[in-house]
Amino acid sequence: MQISFSRFSTYRRCPQQYKLQYVDRIPVPAGPELHFGAAVHDALNRMYDPRQLQRPQLEEVIEAFIASWQGRQEEVPEEKRQLYFERGVDLLRRHYERHGAEEEGARTAATELSFSIRLGDSDRLTGRIDRVDVLGEKQLEVIDYKTGARMPTQSIVDRDVQLAIYRLAATELYPAFDVTTTLYYVLHDVRMSAVQSDEMLSETQYDILEAIARVQLGDFDPNPDSHCDWCGVKAHCELFRKPLETPDLEIDVDDALRRYAEASEAEAEAKRYKAEAQAQINAYLDQAKTERVEGGGYEAIRRRYRQVVSWDAERVRETLEPLGMWGRVTQVDSAAVKGLLATSDLTREQKAEIEAAAEYRESKRIRLKRLGLPEDPEETAE
Ligand code: SF4
Repeated sequence: MQISFSRFSTYRRCPQQYKLQYVDRIPVPAGPELHFGAAVHDALNRMYDPRQLQRPQLEEVIEAFIASWQGRQEEVPEEKRQLYFERGVDLLRRHYERHGAEEEGARTAATELSFSIRLGDSDRLTGRIDRVDVLGEKQLEVIDYKTGARMPTQSIVDRDVQLAIYRLAATELYPAFDVTTTLYYVLHDVRMSAVQSDEMLSETQYDILEAIARVQLGDFDPNPDSHCDWCGVKAHCELFRKPLETPDLEIDVDDALRRYAEASEAEAEAKRYKAEAQAQINAYLDQAKTERVEGGGYEAIRRRYRQVVSWDAERVRETLEPLGMWGRVTQVDSAAVKGLLATSDLTREQKAEIEAAAEYRESKRIRLKRLGLPEDPEETAE
């Protein structure tokens, strides 16, 4: 079976949504942001297309945007068309001012690069990379354009699955090069490159193979969460398509839901209240250079704790190995096991044996939303 990043991420978000979109093929209209992004992508492809002998003029880049936008604007609500159009032209103008001249040391090798790489024994991972730049001898940068305004933190970029997939693909397509993967926020002209560990890449491969296996088994259970609010196939989803039946049970669910909502609100309020008071007490103790204070009929004593976040495994090993004690502290690392399972170094039976050794913990979460207020989820609580 072959799977693309967008299909894989849909499956991870909600297997039922995957089924409705890709198995039942229920069409999902793209939102205005998607059309805007696609038109900007088309213009940037025009600007960086490596087949042209020299960089096109700004007018040609804007023309590419206009041509693409005109083919899409019918799908965008009328009141938003002008806004997106102006935003696109403005963005491209600013981008061209900064990068219109050929960038020193960088050369675009490909735009809109399609790939299909082998995964596991018989599956394939497919996709398309926005741009590949050669940065120098044996150095490549794989770039994914982002046209939204919101930017992630660096740690989120480091764990970005799309970039991990691009890294796997580019490493296979260009084995002689070191590959950097970058999200390029064109609205802000900011590039964020990922630092990916081998474990993270192996784990991504494993997660994709696991998703493929579950698709093949027909595992399409709904995974309801806040993403249901903007799910394009919600009207067809087995959780939402029929009016809810309320079986006549002995549980007063009306009362339970009300009490749960009230308790969640009170808990959230109490957390805020406590955090504010705690910050003030800490500030007082810091300024007074003490760890103890009395007031309001109470005494507060502050203790400081140190928690280990991680160990430098190599240094621990250097110390313990000569003492013959290294074996007493090593643990089975989940990412490493997943990575091993994603390779073809083990037989199917051996893989099944290891998977059977995993301990799974299932948690249940209730998400409360005030009825009639779809845009404003009330509370999420464990
Ligand atoms: S509405 Fe929610 S649970 Fe249903 S398919 Fe969409 S995302 Fe999944």
